[in-house]
Amino acid sequence: MEINGHTQMLCLIGSPVGHSGSPAMYNYSFNRLGLDYAYLAFDIKEEETAEAIKALRLLNVKGFNITMPCKTAALSCCDRLSKAAELIGAVNTVVNENGILTGHNTDGLGWVRNCREHGFEIQNKKMTIAGSGGAATSIEITAALQGVRELSIFALKDSFFANAQATVEKIRANVPDCTVNLFDLADKDTFYREIADSDIFTNATRVGMKPLDDQSLIEDRKAFRPDLTVSDVVYNPRVTKLISEAAEAGCKTIPGIGMLLWQGAEAFHLYTGMEMPAAEVLERYFAE
Ligand code: NAD
Repeated sequence: MEINGHTQMLCLIGSPVGHSGSPAMYNYSFNRLGLDYAYLAFDIKEEETAEAIKALRLLNVKGFNITMPCKTAALSCCDRLSKAAELIGAVNTVVNENGILTGHNTDGLGWVRNCREHGFEIQNKKMTIAGSGGAATSIEITAALQGVRELSIFALKDSFFANAQATVEKIRANVPDCTVNLFDLADKDTFYREIADSDIFTNATRVGMKPLDDQSLIEDRKAFRPDLTVSDVVYNPRVTKLISEAAEAGCKTIPGIGMLLWQGAEAFHLYTGMEMPAAEVLERYFAE
């Protein structure tokens, strides 16, 4: 479709944004579905977040995505927040409905959808998850809101640990039906004991991502039972050591690239009410 006087704008804000695949992914999908929207990317520093959102409000854009480092600063610029965005403390998608800006966080929803697309439903399951950073927090909060029965969170005692403690407190206060516990990732006996009692293990740390691509948090391969599902947030490389070894041992595996795809597709659905042509987007824009 050609841009015209009625075309509505969507965009990405954050810094850096030049490498982002979002403009290509969304513009392809708008064209494919005949939607009169155009998507751009703007380099916005953290301290410019409020000013940028004020400008986007004035321009009456249809919606926008937010990437680092603006995701937290954007919280207070929205008129409303989804429960997930409020508890995660970060916004990655804002929808403009008649001048009312609603902030969402689709990272965790993308992870849930990726699991579903791989035939794994998280409702009423027990998950052991490693990590306490941005990706981990989104998944832990969203999984709790979406009905996971029990969460055993393992985190290094590094600068992110307090984040994991806050996540546990938020889940206990807001989702009392979900049993959640936090453990030190250095305690390997407890780590393997909790995995042995779980339906799914998720790596939500940087382990497995370049330059840690020769590492996996599961060093004892006996932990891989055929009825354990193994998911990774890392998508660079597409097949991590964890995913490769779990697949070899006969586990159902859920690589991280689908989370990236589906968090975008969830945002697309919030903007348009339509399903993004995810399979085509995956093939065109997410091949390694
Ligand atoms: P972050 O910096 O916010 O958090 C990093 C996490 O990794 C922390 O919990 C930290 O304790 C842990 N960590 C770092 N080194 C470790 C080590 N040696 N051993 C154990 N734990 C270690 O990062 P983030 O934004 O949460 O990203 C984490 C990974 O998730 C990255 O690989 C990123 O590319 C990926 N990610 C994927 C998606 C997706 O859509 N698939 C989305 C966001 C992030």
